[in-house]
Amino acid sequence: MHPTDHPPIRGLLFDKDGTLLDFERTWGPATAAVIAALGAGRPGLAGEMATACGFDADRMGFHPGSPIIAGDATAFVPDWARLLDMSCDDAFIDRVDALYRAESAKSLTGYDDVATELALLAQEHGVRIGLATNDSEAGARAHLEALGIAGHFDFVAGYDSGYGAKPLPGMVLAFAAAVGLEPAEVALVGDSAHDMDAARAAGAQGIGIARTPAAAAALAGHSDRIVRDLAELRRLLPPPGGPATT
Ligand SMILES: [Mg+2]
Repeated sequence: MHPTDHPPIRGLLFDKDGTLLDFERTWGPATAAVIAALGAGRPGLAGEMATACGFDADRMGFHPGSPIIAGDATAFVPDWARLLDMSCDDAFIDRVDALYRAESAKSLTGYDDVATELALLAQEHGVRIGLATNDSEAGARAHLEALGIAGHFDFVAGYDSGYGAKPLPGMVLAFAAAVGLEPAEVALVGDSAHDMDAARAAGAQGIGIARTPAAAAALAGHSDRIVRDLAELRRLLPPPGGPATT
């Protein structure tokens, strides 16, 4: 589809991990620390726990199919509990969540263009801005505050906000309703196929952001529009003060 076939974008709904913040530099050290904390005193378990969540401890990175990339804790937390001989109850899940919140705050690494570009998008282009993440809402709000960008967001949703997780369309529809836009006027910007599927299911636009070769590979074939950074995204919008018809 030619770019001009898309309705003008009036709302931008951002994915968080890999889109606004550097996924591996944030979640790699955090995952190593969470595994070390949970497995303390249980030598030999760390390797099995890493395997269960697709974590490569040697390079502090993740294998392409890691459930942590998709933000799906249900895919590995039960395995961790089993390895630790613990029941995967609410208390265990809360402990894992709390450890991840604390550790990711230490390694949180936003991309350099985020603060500048979000300000331009909101103030110059007048678009409404939201966040849709499969992280928890509390974790997401803490990250936005720590990066100094929370003030740009009209809407923040996580997997636990009541709209379902991506690739379900609930967060996209809720954002459109919250800011008074049609879903077709909203673009979900993300680095995974889940993001593009959620956009499509909601009748919104899906724009891939490929900050890394891994993201480019994950997005290939899932979106007709893939940008490398937020400046390139901004060039897809109607110009400031110009006709909102292109
Ligand atoms: Mg992502």
